[in-house]
Amino acid sequence: MPAPPKSIRIPANPLTERALIAAIRTQVKKGMPVRQGILAVGIGDDCAVLRPRPKEDLVVTTDFSLEDVHFRRDWHPPQSVGHRCLARGLSDLAAMGARPEAAFLSMALPPALTMGKAGGKAGGSWVEGFLEGFMRLAERFEVPLGGGDTARSPGAKDGLASMDIVLIGSVPRDRAMLRSGARAGDILCVTGALGGSAAELEALERRPAAFRTAANAGHPHLYPEPRLEAGRKLMRRGLATAAIDLSDGLSTDLSHLCDESGLAAEIQAESVPVDARATLQQALHGGEDYELLFTISRKHKVPKHIGGVEVHPIGRMKKAGKGPQVEISENGERTSLVAAGWDHFR
Ligand SMILES: [Mg+2]
Repeated sequence: MPAPPKSIRIPANPLTERALIAAIRTQVKKGMPVRQGILAVGIGDDCAVLRPRPKEDLVVTTDFSLEDVHFRRDWHPPQSVGHRCLARGLSDLAAMGARPEAAFLSMALPPALTMGKAGGKAGGSWVEGFLEGFMRLAERFEVPLGGGDTARSPGAKDGLASMDIVLIGSVPRDRAMLRSGARAGDILCVTGALGGSAAELEALERRPAAFRTAANAGHPHLYPEPRLEAGRKLMRRGLATAAIDLSDGLSTDLSHLCDESGLAAEIQAESVPVDARATLQQALHGGEDYELLFTISRKHKVPKHIGGVEVHPIGRMKKAGKGPQVEISENGERTSLVAAGWDHFR
């Protein structure tokens, strides 16, 4: 039999599925939060069993993390890929004002990523780094991993890693914050600062080696912070008439909110909180900031902070007319703000 070409890496002894699941369970046990909430039966059975509390609604969100689409193995440390995989789903829960209850994770992995440094052993493998980042965030927000699936990723050569996450959250009945509740005259607000993720991604692209040992805090792209506390407080206080998380970029996500509420909006460029390392363009169109965009009735005072994060009024909602859906004023000049954020199919 001819020797395989050098570019094809065949691990001498990749983990079996059983060994991989055992490694996951060990890692999960280490980081598993004490609070199990509505998760009555978790990993180990054919299905997880959820026991919702009375007078609550469950919310569900699902997100892909695909290699070369959402992350690159040569740019993102595995801990960051695991963190971001969970953070994206948690950010969706935050936008609804929900409390996270359980996560379900499916992974298709090339065998090389299950190989430890010693070969065959789980220690030090890419997937363990991934789980480390994932579980660190899960522990912080008390999200139990309720189950999942593992498979070998198809294709020749090394194959690509694909993860899919399902998150279940709970919210008092009929209180979930929707994109559709904004009214003309409502004040448009964002949490935190924008554009930091796009700016860090550019820096990462230029010098990935500089980010190998990046730790959690202060890395808006590698380790975004889902605004669960802010979302929860907005819901509890009944402050927001509508909400969405900023995953695709302010210009794009604001147009989603306008679409669902049947309204138009205008914002002031000077009011947009721009991250210290970013440009206004990155703040307007760069995605993955995972801050919250929400509307507040004029009857309420805009709080300076909510859930430990700053709140910035950036404009207002208005009736949809013949003009552009979203207008931006800068130095007294008004122009149309075209949705130019992330779009997978553009
Ligand atoms: Mg979202």
